Amino acid sequence: MIIDYGKRSDILAKVPEAWIEDYDDAWLIPGMIDGHVHYPQYYATAAQGGQLLDWLVQSILPAETAFADPAFANDTAKRFIKHLLSCGTTTAMVFGSQFAHANEALFNAARELGIRLIAGATLMDTPADGIPDALLQTPKQAQADAEKLIAICRDEPLLHYAITPRYALSCSEEMMMMCHELLHNHPETYLQTHINENRNEIRAVLAHFNQCKDYLEVYERYGLVTDRTVLAHNIHPSDGELDRIGQAQCSICHCPSSNLFLGSGLFPLSRHIKHGINIALGTDIGAGVSFSLWSNLSDAYKIQQLQGLSLNPEHLLYLATLGGAKALHLENETGNFSTGKSADFFVLDYTRSDYLSERLRRCNSLEAQLFCLLHLASERQVESTYVRGRRVFFYPS
Ligand SMILES: [Zn+2]
Repeated sequence: MIIDYGKRSDILAKVPEAWIEDYDDAWLIPGMIDGHVHYPQYYATAAQGGQLLDWLVQSILPAETAFADPAFANDTAKRFIKHLLSCGTTTAMVFGSQFAHANEALFNAARELGIRLIAGATLMDTPADGIPDALLQTPKQAQADAEKLIAICRDEPLLHYAITPRYALSCSEEMMMMCHELLHNHPETYLQTHINENRNEIRAVLAHFNQCKDYLEVYERYGLVTDRTVLAHNIHPSDGELDRIGQAQCSICHCPSSNLFLGSGLFPLSRHIKHGINIALGTDIGAGVSFSLWSNLSDAYKIQQLQGLSLNPEHLLYLATLGGAKALHLENETGNFSTGKSADFFVLDYTRSDYLSERLRRCNSLEAQLFCLLHLASERQVESTYVRGRRVFFYPS
């Protein structure tokens, strides 16, 4: 836990017996909070396949079927969590597998390796062209699997369950009702899904749910838009949807690298801010091409630049840390260095790069240095990552 912060001399005067780990040539940054990442897409990054719906069928769903193999799922779960920690990510909200054993492997890896995890099985039960049968669950089985993991999370301070219908078109009415029931019966759980990512996707959703006036209404019909809900993307919302998202205190997760890779569009950040909506950032692996949320900040900056908004570095850093914590209701536990919070942070050692060291030396303010770091540093400069004061990653490890 963080018990104090300030100048080294002041802290040492208060706690002279303190054991010191010296990171003189480095920045200590609050742990990155990745609000949207797909574990079964670990090996599906940088896959060709056009835009969202084609890419899903061609490259992503086949990759997700590989998790039917327990040994593969076990190995991948560990690599996935280690990879996130090596990027300075200390909290991750994760879309899990369709296979129960693979999700158990994910929760076990998170417990063993020490990350703060919010996750749940990615739910699909509507057969369609291109969806392998192996990825479909029944609502009954999905509910039983979820109840098991929800029970495990009760005794684990770092593990949380997220009910995860993949998106409107992948779930039947019965599956959506089951999601509502879980959310209602277990108010400590989260609900995560996708919304308004791609124009063709929106057209397909509205054609299918032709009695709904917009995409959000599909989720509203089943009582899935609450203050425990995190909706990924929302690149093309109407003002009415933003109004209702704000009123419901539902959070949005913006995934910059993914939006660029899939050509999904430019996230309207200022419209979200105007509606008082909490925003997290996500890598959206495998549509995103970087596991580092830090690297996504540079893309987030450019996406707003294209819309005439020049974000300052403090705002960018906020989105990946305390902003994300607020969106996930974890702001009392993590997100910055306030006294009493969990010591979740990473050490960014800029001296690993000669160029970066020289570039920072030429900055005339801390703000200018942070701006440079946001665009020029990457996971290659992460030396250590800590969650709850425990070092969970150390380079090279
Ligand atoms: Zn996604």
